[in-house]
Amino acid sequence: MENTYEKALLSKDLFSVDWEVVPGRGAFEKAQEDFVLKAEQAAKSGKIHALTITDNPGGNPSVSAEIMSLEVSRLGLQPLVYFTCKDKSRNELENLLYGLERIKVANLLVMSGDYPAAGFQGRSRPVYDVDPIHVLQLIRKMNEGLEYPSMKGTVTMKPTGFFPGVVASPFKKLESEQLLQYYKLKKKIDAGAQFVITQTGYDARKFHELLLVKKKYGFEVPFIGNIYLLPFGAGRAMSKNMVPGCVVTQKLVDCLDQERKADDKGKGSRLLRGAKMYAFLKGMGYDGVHISGLGVNLDDVLYVIEKGEELAPNWRDVVAEFDYPQKGGFYYFKKDEQTGLNREEESDRLAPARSSLSYTFSRAMHNLMFEPDGALFGFMKKICEKADDGGGFGALFRFVERMLKAMFFECMDCGDCALSDTAYLCPMSQCPKNQRNGPCGGSFEGWCEVYPGEKQCLWVQAYDRLKRAGEQEMIEGNVVPPPNWDLFHRSSWINYFLGRDHAAAKAGIRPAEKGE
Ligand code: SF4
Repeated sequence: MENTYEKALLSKDLFSVDWEVVPGRGAFEKAQEDFVLKAEQAAKSGKIHALTITDNPGGNPSVSAEIMSLEVSRLGLQPLVYFTCKDKSRNELENLLYGLERIKVANLLVMSGDYPAAGFQGRSRPVYDVDPIHVLQLIRKMNEGLEYPSMKGTVTMKPTGFFPGVVASPFKKLESEQLLQYYKLKKKIDAGAQFVITQTGYDARKFHELLLVKKKYGFEVPFIGNIYLLPFGAGRAMSKNMVPGCVVTQKLVDCLDQERKADDKGKGSRLLRGAKMYAFLKGMGYDGVHISGLGVNLDDVLYVIEKGEELAPNWRDVVAEFDYPQKGGFYYFKKDEQTGLNREEESDRLAPARSSLSYTFSRAMHNLMFEPDGALFGFMKKICEKADDGGGFGALFRFVERMLKAMFFECMDCGDCALSDTAYLCPMSQCPKNQRNGPCGGSFEGWCEVYPGEKQCLWVQAYDRLKRAGEQEMIEGNVVPPPNWDLFHRSSWINYFLGRDHAAAKAGIRPAEKGE
């Protein structure tokens, strides 16, 4: 089947529309029957370029998006599969990719995924073995023909045909959160993302900001605006940070509260808002829209498309209605007072706060002991070589290392240390999703998605630390591989000095050759 979704997205003349439907928990429950019915209707309509299938939204168990994609493609409609890292190891992701390739499902939306919530006999264990950048790297390799070593030499597999995209949020409140989203977006596109869908938000100036960021970075992939058809209940939940990553301000909630008093309980206003978003997203320069919302049916989607097309030529007349700034929220560019959108001039950045003692100390020790030109590098290397031989000295060395790293960094002994990549904050112990390349999309006003109001997002802390040294942009170009589980529960110091981990490779420390 021709990939009409890819074709629509890459065509200059088409404005793509995908419709997100949640398949729900169960196999033959009402949710799955409704899902199939909607897919059939969407296929017959000829107006929808892809049906998007969510993967365990909210972190709850659900029928597999990969399996449901087969039902959608059998109907002659392109599926767009949410492909998340939360419940799958790297091998499981690869397994699924082979399955998807066999059934010719190409469109994937690669993301970290909501933190697992309720499950059978309690909360499920989160996996997050890899992040979206690693998945994109894997997909790129598979699309080129993945190579792996075997007893008979290197095996090269047949190239696959995946068309992967990612999600980005321009709706973050803090400078740190927002810039981190853009740094990570650059890494995702460099790793092979071929399209970008925005998170849920309603601030037109922020949608516009993302297009200016696209221009600034020279991203050439299509960008798609998210239109969530928002009823009062969902709006209120989003405004209270109960739906990770979705941003709704109190001003919009008040509006929805008024609208729900109408005879149709606000449905007309909700759909008209969606159509207006369609119009300004198209007018601004987005390449398509992603339409979502609970209980949305095909007629609702068709209304948004038709009315949106009607309004699009005069999109500037409606865009001013989408003025929903967050109080004290950061904007990347200065405001254009005439349009309410942005000028192409960067806004003033906050002055960095004072350096923390912990960061200053960690950095000084790192430079002294771990940088190849550090005064104690040679000494440390010799000690590690001796400790690697095991025996009493090796055991004592491990004990000292474990004590120091657990005390200062809450180290979990993964053995493939990323401390120097994350401003000396451990992503394995302090980020519940173990994100080694930048934050997930779920942070809220600087708080971690999983511990709002309790723990600051590790990446927000890392940004602040690096900014004090004027080095925050190093995050943008620094791609950190997933932890190598060969090294798990082995000395990270020995792994580094003996050239076994990713940090050693970056520092140019080679593993010793036999006889060296
Ligand atoms: S620490 Fe940041 S990146 Fe990690 S889960 Fe929390 S919000 Fe996401």
